[in-house]
Amino acid sequence: MQLANRLLAATGTTIFTLMSALAVRHQAINLGQGFPDTDGPEDMLAAAAAALMDGRNQYPPMTGVPELRSAVAAANVRFYGLSVDADREVVVTSGATEAITACLMAVLNPGDEAVLIEPLYDTYLPVVKMLGAVPRLVRLMPPRWELPRAELAAAFGPRTKALLLNTPMNPTGKVFTAAELAFIADLLQRHDAYAICDEVYEHLTYDGWRHIPLMTLPGLRPRTMRIGSAGKTFSLTGWKVGYVTAPAELAQYVAKAHQNLTFTTPPNLQRAVATGLAKDDAYFAGLAANLAAKRDRFAAGLAGLGMQVLPCMGSYFLIADFSPLGFSGDDAAFCRHITEAAGVAAIPVSVFYDSEAPGQYARFAFCKREAVLDEAVMRLARHFRAEPAASLTAAVRPAYTTAPRRA
Ligand code: GLN
Repeated sequence: MQLANRLLAATGTTIFTLMSALAVRHQAINLGQGFPDTDGPEDMLAAAAAALMDGRNQYPPMTGVPELRSAVAAANVRFYGLSVDADREVVVTSGATEAITACLMAVLNPGDEAVLIEPLYDTYLPVVKMLGAVPRLVRLMPPRWELPRAELAAAFGPRTKALLLNTPMNPTGKVFTAAELAFIADLLQRHDAYAICDEVYEHLTYDGWRHIPLMTLPGLRPRTMRIGSAGKTFSLTGWKVGYVTAPAELAQYVAKAHQNLTFTTPPNLQRAVATGLAKDDAYFAGLAANLAAKRDRFAAGLAGLGMQVLPCMGSYFLIADFSPLGFSGDDAAFCRHITEAAGVAAIPVSVFYDSEAPGQYARFAFCKREAVLDEAVMRLARHFRAEPAASLTAAVRPAYTTAPRRA
């Protein structure tokens, strides 16, 4: 037999699936993969159920049902003042994951360069490579995650075709500032490059931080594709409904990519998401306030254990430096260890880098019920304060020398 695709052969199973499986095996609280542990809004569940029963269950229009395309256009005006043609500038996809791939497919030819910012979401790099394009990586580093402007500028060149930007950012919790976005916008215009904006956490920002779509910056509207996800905005990650807003000239290519990937997205879910996007401002404010409270509670718990918790302005995720706990294995060992021995799963931050990366940070998803977050802190406290040495695996025991710090 000939070998299968070499890039896929070299691609491992995603860390989110691996850690979720490990969490199940060890009955650990799963703060790894980012998904809420409560259902989305009941009225949306009812709308999806009702929509199943009214006889529109065959292929919907390829770019999305009219109700949802109109709702996406309306949300663009309402939240960002962006005026959007619902018929020509919106493409509904099966999740933001598909949208990201479709947008990359829409603009990249083999040999084109795509600028990506590390730490990066797990699908970006494999998809860019599968398209035969050349990734140009620029890295943000903890604890401040500042944009290294000179390096970013140096990553742009005559072959740059696109930049893929994620703000609010997974896993860092960073929300790009107006000044950073202006710097990026200038580079894109000078190099005549496209922007693909993964904005799935657009409504999950805290402490007065506001998400600014790159698309709203002067001159960027014609070259920007903006991606949203109902999974994040409505706590319905299993639904996999995403939406791209793009100028008509680009949206037609995104639609053709979608045509070749999934073609359409379940119509009942699309219609329920349309009702969700029409929710009043209190819903969106409440979602963020609720998550901010969880973040604060869990951050205080981790800090109480002695971890150094980094600021989080948006997203589902907190990153903590676990080195004060005295665990001297790397982040992958730490996350495996706390899953198996403490019963709490997290994601090692180094997986979001393509090559050598900071090794003492773990990402915790805080989009969970408060009792669950409290129990996770209790388990970690019990493990690291009372019985750390006894429960360590042989592999990491010798490295574990320092006593855990108390609050
Ligand atoms: N976006 C989620 C996370 O970062 C996971 C999604 C997935 O499992 N593919 O945790």
